[in-house]
Amino acid sequence: MTEASPTVEDAAARLSRGRLVAFPTETVYGLGADALNPEAVRSVFRLKGRPSDNPLIVHVGSPEGVGPLARRVDDRARALMDRFWPGPLTLVLERSERVPDVVCAGASTVALRCPDHPLALRLLEAFGGPLVGPSANPSGHLSPTNADHVREGFADAIARDELVVLDGGPCTGGIESTVLALLPDRPPTILRPGLIGPEEISKALRGVDVVRGGSGTIPSPGTRHTHYRPGAPVQLVGAARVGELAASVEGRVAALVISADDLPGPHLTIRMPDVGAPYASRLYAAVREADSVEPAAILIETPPRTSPVWDAVADRLRRMASGE
Ligand code: AMP
Ligand code: MG
Repeated sequence: MTEASPTVEDAAARLSRGRLVAFPTETVYGLGADALNPEAVRSVFRLKGRPSDNPLIVHVGSPEGVGPLARRVDDRARALMDRFWPGPLTLVLERSERVPDVVCAGASTVALRCPDHPLALRLLEAFGGPLVGPSANPSGHLSPTNADHVREGFADAIARDELVVLDGGPCTGGIESTVLALLPDRPPTILRPGLIGPEEISKALRGVDVVRGGSGTIPSPGTRHTHYRPGAPVQLVGAARVGELAASVEGRVAALVISADDLPGPHLTIRMPDVGAPYASRLYAAVREADSVEPAAILIETPPRTSPVWDAVADRLRRMASGE
């Protein structure tokens, strides 16, 4: 099923014609389209089956790309772009009129980020404008962390030549960006945890308090929708109970473990790193591997919560387990 990856120039030319290109970033693969072409953006929603009230992240090639898209870029936004871009931090700012309604799902804000991946940056440069780039998976499925995951999710569209995939190998980050709202008269608010944690953000803002969203004060549309869901039910379980629980399940189990013992055959045991960043990088591919044996259940050993990366991992695991 592996078709040739297009050149960056070919991919950029397709985008200019309103077509779709999946591209690698340091977090997960994005489904790219011209952010200023409403028809192209609508085709992203259609292909993903994404609800039209869930807005898209807009990718820019540098902080300069933000100016035309945001109503105002305040000192906080400048400091964070200086410190973390290119990188896995998405900033939600008030939007300018140039951003089509469909991108923001009608909201008055726009989510912006500059990805830290050489192919993504070359694509943005060759295209010469902003690109929407939601994760390149059918809505409600796991985010893709390599080009084959994208090809599996969109085989039909690729066969019809509606989509091409720029293959940049596996993503190093492995989970989606931190989403931070920076709105007037509000504290910086994390809408989605990611590899960049609140302490680091606060430090870059000279100690300003960073709050965690969810209280409903700032709309966080994506959290209303199902995410990160494999086919088999997922259960989080302490290391000591993995074996016991596997024994109680009827049928084959797949388990992602850190310190728990291997399960006896015919169960599948996938051993995961005990360090946060490599765990995050491996997570979605490991869950796909677990899901591929069509297990009766996927058991995931509860990881430690001792760093922002582990917190972000815990957020994704909780969503997988609850079907949220
Ligand atoms: P993904 O579809 O995986 O790229 O995730 C994009 C995330 O960013 C979702 O959780 C969206 O709801 C969120 N997002 C995008 N635009 C906005 C916005 N204007 N305000 C708040 N959250 C946003
Ligand atoms: Mg997504």
